[in-house]
Amino acid sequence: MAVLKKLVRSAEGAHVPHNKNTENCETVKMPVPKRVYVSMSQHIGAPAKACVKKGVEVKVGDVIGTAGGFISAPVHSSVSGKVFSVDEVMLTNGRKAQVVVIDTDGLQTVSENVKAPEVTDHASFVQAIKDSGLVGLGGAGFPTGVKLDPQNLDEVDTLVINAAECEPYITADYREMMECGEDVVEGAKLVKEYLNLSKVIIGIEANKPQAIEKMKALTSGLEGFTVATLPSVYPQGAEKVLIEQTTGKEVPQGALPAAVGVIVMNVASVGFVNRYMKTGMPLVSKRLTVDGDAVANPQNVEVVIGTTVKDVVEFCGGYSQEPGKIISGGPMMGAALANDEMPVMKQNNAILVFGAEKAKLPEESPCIRCGRCINACPMGLSPVEIALALSVEDADELKALFTDLCMECGSCSFVCPAKRPVAQTMREAKDFMRKAAK
Ligand code: SF4
Ligand code: SF4
Repeated sequence: MAVLKKLVRSAEGAHVPHNKNTENCETVKMPVPKRVYVSMSQHIGAPAKACVKKGVEVKVGDVIGTAGGFISAPVHSSVSGKVFSVDEVMLTNGRKAQVVVIDTDGLQTVSENVKAPEVTDHASFVQAIKDSGLVGLGGAGFPTGVKLDPQNLDEVDTLVINAAECEPYITADYREMMECGEDVVEGAKLVKEYLNLSKVIIGIEANKPQAIEKMKALTSGLEGFTVATLPSVYPQGAEKVLIEQTTGKEVPQGALPAAVGVIVMNVASVGFVNRYMKTGMPLVSKRLTVDGDAVANPQNVEVVIGTTVKDVVEFCGGYSQEPGKIISGGPMMGAALANDEMPVMKQNNAILVFGAEKAKLPEESPCIRCGRCINACPMGLSPVEIALALSVEDADELKALFTDLCMECGSCSFVCPAKRPVAQTMREAKDFMRKAAK
């Protein structure tokens, strides 16, 4: 029997600066751009298959990509207009995927296929969620319809709503609670009802007192609902950390949350569930935090999916200085973009743009064996030993050190006084293990 690692939660974690500069910026709806680039790969799993051709007229909510497998999600047109082309392009994750390019007509005519789904039981609820194109909106992008249909459903009793939003700068989930808190509660009620759950726990970091107060008021008197105040220590929003903090349960190595009776959903995903069930409008737009010292007017914006980063930044007043680094997501776990031509996808929650000075990599020095990276690691890993095993290409030792548990949260790099790229080394070690296993 495989030995399972006991996950060790760090007492320290990483005390990252919050920089929630846009927390009081009410979401502004960005006008539809002239052209959108809608990717068929906006989720974990098989990409969707484009089902439209050049020249076809589309309306908002029309299916333009069908799910490409069991773990997949359909993709809908976010605009009305005409398909300009179906191309292959490089995405923010570095992979190539089909992209449907649509020239918008500015009318945003809604498809006649958009209507509230008929839901009567768990099976029809799951089917409706699959049809909606919903994927984890917190950044993970796992198809929600698959998540809500675990094999051991009768053993699952708890929905944990991830509203920690522990990454610096990002305030999109905070705005979801402040502007659409009712949708979050109603969406949670639907998930609770159709999955026959007894508990709903909304986990929010302590640095969002107004959201905590609002969600407590909205859930007051609701059976099975709790709002959990989490310490403001990064990475509270990491799934396994969140589950342990809110339920006291530990997800075994290699297992899914359902193994301990829990389903985790991002707070914006839960809010979407309610809106979709009422209107039938699939996932065609996204709230984003746009911030960084190279953005003229940082704010929260709602954009149609497929809008380019360039168009979003232009809407936010353009660049205030030459961009040195553009990030899709937060500074800890987000992906650096090669340019601003990339389209916004379903799971994107932020665009951060920094000038050359902030983007400059710190000068690294030799490891002083201080152990801070070990203390900060939420998975209890030892990056120093792992780096050593990688340097001698010892795959067995890397396995013995549970290297594959690394979730690339970046806490180790953040706390390192020698400014070593510790998380990057962890990524390389995981890649080495994967290749060695082939
Ligand atoms: S990046 Fe990996 S090793 Fe570093 S703190 Fe996060 S989980 Fe631990
Ligand atoms: S935090 Fe940096 S200097 Fe300290 S042990 Fe880890 S890698 Fe070495």
